[in-house]
Amino acid sequence: MDFNCQIILIEKSKEYYYLIDRYIKEINQTTSVNYQLSWKNNLECQFREERKSRPTQPACIYIIDFWFLVTSCNPNLQKYSSSAIVDGDLKKAIAQVKNSILRSQSDSVIILTDDYETGIKTLEAGATDYLSKEELTLSSLERCLRLNFANSYLKQENKQQKPTKIELQCRELARSNAELEQFAYVASHDLQAPLNTITNYAQLLELRYQEKLDDRGYKCINYIVDSAKKMKTQIEDLLEYSRLGRQKSTWRETDLYLVLQQAVSNLQSTIDSEQVKIICDRDFPTLVVDSSQLVVLWQNLLENSIKYRRQEPLVIQIKVEEQENYWHFSVSDNGIGFEPEYKQRIFQIFQRLYTQDEYPGNGIGLAICQKIVEQHGGNIWVESQINKGSTFYFTIPKQSHS
Ligand code: ADP
Repeated sequence: MDFNCQIILIEKSKEYYYLIDRYIKEINQTTSVNYQLSWKNNLECQFREERKSRPTQPACIYIIDFWFLVTSCNPNLQKYSSSAIVDGDLKKAIAQVKNSILRSQSDSVIILTDDYETGIKTLEAGATDYLSKEELTLSSLERCLRLNFANSYLKQENKQQKPTKIELQCRELARSNAELEQFAYVASHDLQAPLNTITNYAQLLELRYQEKLDDRGYKCINYIVDSAKKMKTQIEDLLEYSRLGRQKSTWRETDLYLVLQQAVSNLQSTIDSEQVKIICDRDFPTLVVDSSQLVVLWQNLLENSIKYRRQEPLVIQIKVEEQENYWHFSVSDNGIGFEPEYKQRIFQIFQRLYTQDEYPGNGIGLAICQKIVEQHGGNIWVESQINKGSTFYFTIPKQSHS
């Protein structure tokens, strides 16, 4: 296999360009690496070009004339000989170049110098190698290039994974989601203790001051206890919801029909007492999933169909369909349905369309369903017509998303 390696010589004049170019032509005849030399008298200008041309650029080696470096970093140093350059200035100069090179994602930096001591100091300061101007020969250049190419090529390979803007945004989103999850978890966990204290003391108040409390006093305490209980279940739900993302789930190859059967068997007594008829496709796939999460998904959807039923016999139809990259599932009922305008809102946490007295519930079931489906890499949505029924759809990709 042939490799490409770009060498960029940064030098004020073209003095060394012709010599190095000649050597490189010779080296190219005896190696599988194709070295391409270009010359630039200005580092910044090179960076600007480079930023545009990435990421197609092959492995890259910079050869930087130290005098160019010194003069471009600090014009006052021009009048000194290299041995007269104090450590601080040299380190600063190299650091500046290294910094710019890091910014422009380049790889190896070889310093071209006519002073041994400067060579050593540039190495200490971060250059990958140095070449002596006086002793620049075909073999010294070849050795230096080979070593630096290997280094540069490896780095380039790693950098292939340089994230795109979208990937960066995804990472940022994942980070802030994780932070939010962490917050929800900590908040719901830590809120439990003070809430328990409120409930306990309100009940104690009722018990200890029974004789002294009038009807209004009792009512007030009952409000406190009821609200605290409601808040407790909400906190527990929130905790369950945030745990979904935190638990190290077990993903394995699972027959999804067995998963559905498990959910049905968990609800069997309600299904019997409500005389629910379930019509179900059989050709379910086997996929790599977190089966316990999928049991919860089916169970929530079936429970809702049962809860939001009408008087007439309840029929639930479950369908499964293979698509190119996904398996497509649907759960239809002939229940009360709802106005289509709510079809997004009902997936939000604690959003419900009825009061507790009309239909008991906490408004978290569908938010959990959505989270489970999304953790599997799929989507969930609903179509509904009031007094006709609802169909919940969800997809699970064929490829594991774990
Ligand atoms: P909950 O049932 O506790 O209210 P969910 O998150 O499971 O919480 O559901 C949110 C809302 O979506 C419900 O309050 C209800 O109004 C509506 N909903 C869910 N499933 C159905 C269904 N099968 N038929 C009609 N409405 C439904």
